[in-house]
Amino acid sequence: MKNSATCPLLVVGSVAYDSVKTSAGSRQDALGGSAMYFSLSSSYFTPVAVVAVVGEDFRERDVGVFKAHRVDISGLERREGKTFRWSGVYGMEDVNTRETLYTQLNVFADFSPKLNREHRRARFLFLANIHPALQLDVLRQMEFRPKLVALDTMNFWIGGNRAALAEVVRQVDVLFMDEGETRQFAEEANLIRAARKILSMGPRGVVVKRGEHGVLLVQNASLFAAPAFPLERVVDPTGAGDTFAGGFMGYLASTGDLSPRGLQRAVVLGSVMGSFTVESFSMERLHALRHEEIEARYRAFIELFKVSPLRNGQSLPWRNAAQPSD
Ligand code: AMP
Repeated sequence: MKNSATCPLLVVGSVAYDSVKTSAGSRQDALGGSAMYFSLSSSYFTPVAVVAVVGEDFRERDVGVFKAHRVDISGLERREGKTFRWSGVYGMEDVNTRETLYTQLNVFADFSPKLNREHRRARFLFLANIHPALQLDVLRQMEFRPKLVALDTMNFWIGGNRAALAEVVRQVDVLFMDEGETRQFAEEANLIRAARKILSMGPRGVVVKRGEHGVLLVQNASLFAAPAFPLERVVDPTGAGDTFAGGFMGYLASTGDLSPRGLQRAVVLGSVMGSFTVESFSMERLHALRHEEIEARYRAFIELFKVSPLRNGQSLPWRNAAQPSD
């Protein structure tokens, strides 16, 4: 990919060492970060390049994980100092609740993404959760407007950097936010109205992430809801959102189908990829998936909400013809 003129998909985000504790166990300094989850997930469908920073302590075997997935790491900067570290603990009964124990920015504190010529021509761009000013800077560096730009953010930036975030939101096509962030950013309690308010700022789609309740895709003329793939055992939800985004963008970059239906399929594939990530700690499952497993789960997933439609002339099984208002 290094010699090709353009890069199909680019992600700018974090590469991290995560220490997490869940009801299934714990991991210390396990490979993580938004760009890591995103690139592995999308790499199953399209060539992908990463722009991120790591410290001197970044392990050679972790570079090998990128390489095994043929991720372009020409934009992975290695700097003096330690790799970004994040630690969280999940509710022992309710895996949907998470408390951040610490965030050590380390080399990430001075992260200033520098895109090379190929990166500046990326056709699809994912701005993972970083400072909105950096996200804007990446957009400014692009030589051409990509076919699709998607953005992820978090409550931290909504509270402290609303103006900069609003400016990025105006310039992107798809926005990923969780329920609380959507309401907070739009200053609107009703989720659909909140998403529509964000659409009026510029994006063509808002993907509202609702954890184990699935995902809502709000577009101007359509509304689409996908459940989360029902799993009997969730080991570690870390990275589910970024893995979702990787499957979503990987599908779009691979097919180029940006129609409302294309975006809906992308949502389903994103959900499928996210469901693998939560079945293990770190990249353990995402790293070693087989095409057949992904496809089998995609097929099983769409069966979940396949309901036979009402055929011509068919109606619901009313008790009788009279209506309460008659
Ligand atoms: P998610 O579970 O989708 O929210 O993503 C978790 C990943 O995001 C972890 O692998 C962390 O290393 C990374 N992360 C956590 N906080 C930040 C932050 N402030 N900036 C960038 N990445 C972060």
